[in-house]
Amino acid sequence: MTTQQATQQIVGHYIDGRNVAGSGERMGDIYNPATGKIQAQVSFATADEVRLAITAAEEAFPAWSATPPLKRARVMFKFKELLEQNSDELARAITLEHGKTINDARGEIIRGIEVVEFACGIPHLLKGEFSDQVGTGIDTHSMRQPLGVVAGITPFNFPIMVPLWMIPMALATGNTFVLKPSERDPSASLMLAELLAQAGLPAGVFNVVQGDKLAVDTLLEDKRVQAVSFVGSTPIAEYIYTTGTARGKRVQALGGAKNHLVVMPDADLDQVADALIGAGFGSAGERCMAITVAVAVGGVGPALVAKLAEKTRSIRINQGLDEEADMGPLVTPQHFAKVRDYVDSGVAEGATLVIDGRDFKLAGHEDGFFMGPCLFDNVTTDMKIYQEEIFGPVLSVMHVNDFETALKLINDHEFGNGVAIFTRDGDTAREFGRRVQVGMVGINIPLPVPIAFHSFGGWKRSLFGDHHVYGPEGVRFYTRLKTLTTRWPAGTRLAAEFVMPTMK
Ligand code: NAD
Repeated sequence: MTTQQATQQIVGHYIDGRNVAGSGERMGDIYNPATGKIQAQVSFATADEVRLAITAAEEAFPAWSATPPLKRARVMFKFKELLEQNSDELARAITLEHGKTINDARGEIIRGIEVVEFACGIPHLLKGEFSDQVGTGIDTHSMRQPLGVVAGITPFNFPIMVPLWMIPMALATGNTFVLKPSERDPSASLMLAELLAQAGLPAGVFNVVQGDKLAVDTLLEDKRVQAVSFVGSTPIAEYIYTTGTARGKRVQALGGAKNHLVVMPDADLDQVADALIGAGFGSAGERCMAITVAVAVGGVGPALVAKLAEKTRSIRINQGLDEEADMGPLVTPQHFAKVRDYVDSGVAEGATLVIDGRDFKLAGHEDGFFMGPCLFDNVTTDMKIYQEEIFGPVLSVMHVNDFETALKLINDHEFGNGVAIFTRDGDTAREFGRRVQVGMVGINIPLPVPIAFHSFGGWKRSLFGDHHVYGPEGVRFYTRLKTLTTRWPAGTRLAAEFVMPTMK
């Protein structure tokens, strides 16, 4: 496909059950990161187009919210089946726009499907509480009701999984939805819309608007949008949270990360090195749960670095459709340049660059955004490569003398998304789990992404808001609690009371 032919493809919106081409007033480029070529364009929604999607969602809300949860669950069952049937096509769409390996893309689809499976149990999850005889002849019960129109704003790094952290939970609880996916890999969102329609979701319940800040700001400004779920970088998460809540919306905004893995001296170093290269370089480091800092405790550092260097050299880099590839390209040329700048700054600040992947070229794909894995040793807390999120294939090693210093280092960092410790000692692991100021903790697990029936979320500047996503927290986020106190029917026979009601 030539660039000329490819740029004629324009990815548009999905509003009120229909694909909508979009005005095309403003467009963004969609790259194929493996070839470096622009393969399509995405139409950025105007404010009016976003408002059309909100109107469609608003009009669909009364009927959808009144649909029995069991029937909503049946749509989810069908949706899960369709996602499974179409997973190869979805994975291919992810790889072509994001660049990640096809096996990794299949993995993210499976993790997304798990949230759909959880949402299939919504009739049970929506059951309220009941107290008999809270006063004589009086009962109290609670119910959770949907909010109305809710919006999701998602990042480039998981074009299927992150939208599926939100969509099944919001829809199964009876809300209607407007998704604003990443403009860098927007096609998968339209495939989700198509599969939801095939699963029997009524028109207007789920809508997609493509775009950038303008679309996001329109969602934030519109009073009809009751809640916003956001996943992306910390500055934007903070902006979404402060702007959305100032306008009275419920907001959960998940941000960036700097995830440490503590290596205790008793850990099995081969196991640790395998865990580190998988969690550090998988998806070219473009994961919010990627491990980016190994903290070697008590002299274990040099042996760890030697093993890491050996294993890092064996990583197979290729275009993502290659079934054998371990790592694909970065997402865009801008992102490639940003990651490269970070590696340059690490060198300038005095870290030891043990493996330098900056000038890696893949034969036959010289224009692709491929970077080889970079391994830094002797990283310190004053360096930019330690303080900031790089979001690329860059793993840093730090050396500390003891457990307490490792713990303090992590607790002092501004981010608190994920963390891991590798040890054979139960007491050390337990103490770490209790005292570490991070939302998701792995004990001998490098990527502790919670399963769908728990909830996902970091602490500190990795999450703004009170609710984590999906799982039981997702049900709470997308519903409001209502409590009814009821007296039947003898209450009508009682005479009027003029004193403050008390327990009789
Ligand atoms: P990003 O913040 O650039 O974009 C996220 C979304 O916000 C996109 O839909 C984008 O269009 C929109 N956006 C961008 N700039 C905006 C602006 N100025 N105003 C309003 N909206 C704007 O993030 P990204 O580069 O797509 O994704 C990578 C980031 O996401 C990393 O920081 C990563 O850690 C984070 N992330 C976090 C989690 C988590 O669970 N905490 C999960 C995945 C990714």
